[in-house]
Amino acid sequence: MSITQTTKINLLGLNSKGLEDFFLSLGEKPYRAQQVLKWIHFQGVRDIQLMTNLSKSLRQKIQEIADITIPEIAYENTAEDGTQKWLLRLADGNCIETVYIPEAGRGTLCVSSQVGCTLNCDFCSTGKQGFSRNLSTAEIISQVWVAARRLSSDQATHDRAVTNVVMMGMGEPLLNFENVVDAMNIMLDDFAYGLSKRRVTLSTAGVIPAMYRLREVSDVALAVSLHAPNDELRNVLVPLNKKYPLKELMQACEDYFKEDKRRYVTMEYVMLAGVNDSLVHAKQLIALLKNMRAKVNLIPFNPFPNTSYQRSDKKTIDQFRETLMNAGINAITRKTRGDDIDAACGQLVGQVKDRTRRSERYRKKIETNSLS
Ligand code: SAH
Repeated sequence: MSITQTTKINLLGLNSKGLEDFFLSLGEKPYRAQQVLKWIHFQGVRDIQLMTNLSKSLRQKIQEIADITIPEIAYENTAEDGTQKWLLRLADGNCIETVYIPEAGRGTLCVSSQVGCTLNCDFCSTGKQGFSRNLSTAEIISQVWVAARRLSSDQATHDRAVTNVVMMGMGEPLLNFENVVDAMNIMLDDFAYGLSKRRVTLSTAGVIPAMYRLREVSDVALAVSLHAPNDELRNVLVPLNKKYPLKELMQACEDYFKEDKRRYVTMEYVMLAGVNDSLVHAKQLIALLKNMRAKVNLIPFNPFPNTSYQRSDKKTIDQFRETLMNAGINAITRKTRGDDIDAACGQLVGQVKDRTRRSERYRKKIETNSLS
């Protein structure tokens, strides 16, 4: 007897169009897609038998070929400031991290797009973990599903806890283009999470061709990890810059909201003591951004073990910000949140089955340094 293992379709990862195709293939009407989206994402129902506006026979049919699978919560923790972090274990044993940041009047979820990251930015601990693989659409949206469920049961409220999503967790979202766009479509869908396009932000280190593709298929907000105002320094901090240098990156940013003159690109700029935080850097940044619809988010560097970088002090950050403001550039300093549970920007590491051997090399380097 041969045993064939069939994998069921995970309905969690299907957006409106995907579910419509699914129902059409069953000979059903496309509007079933909206009903099921609502059950899964709005109501948080995983048991197909509870979807009572579908006939019993249809539920049976669905159950034979599909299910709703979410990753297991391997660990969760809440910081003193209320920031929450979940470590989610995926079916293959890899783990990813998701962070929830509550603020007055809104709650932002920081979502991962890959297990690890290929870009190896010098100041980011995710980069030091190496890279395993892209997340599936289901694995990306499951982070929102889990957070929405955990938060509503914690707070016993029907208010939506997640009002904003930032694709700023582990990974480079534009290197997992299709799955990230599909997952963002579910976030924006009125039958699922109903988030507004201004409240879903994709952050990229600057994968230029994918930035142009993104504006064709989506109108989510865009953040760019700039971190340096000249190519020489950016080549070191964000090695991707060697492939996609600043001049072209700035053009791509200008083009992103070409059709909507009211929208701004957010430039993220990590503040590294003695590296990119001088007055000269501020002036270069002003020159780079002049005449652009951009606002700047200064991120105080969050340290992680064995990094050689340090956070700029408060006075330096304040002065840097003031210099930008005086030149007419809107700049804010991002509050450091959740750093007592390693949930702050650049501290997300998960558990990556590294296929690049980068983490191994990094460990060896640290060992050699600590011996010498
Ligand atoms: N790969 C995407 C998504 C990651 S977003 C991107 O580069 O935009 C995570 C943000 O936190 C990025 O702006 C990243 O540069 C920043 N970051 C990374 N490490 C950091 C650290 N140690 N301290 C503060 N910010 C950091």
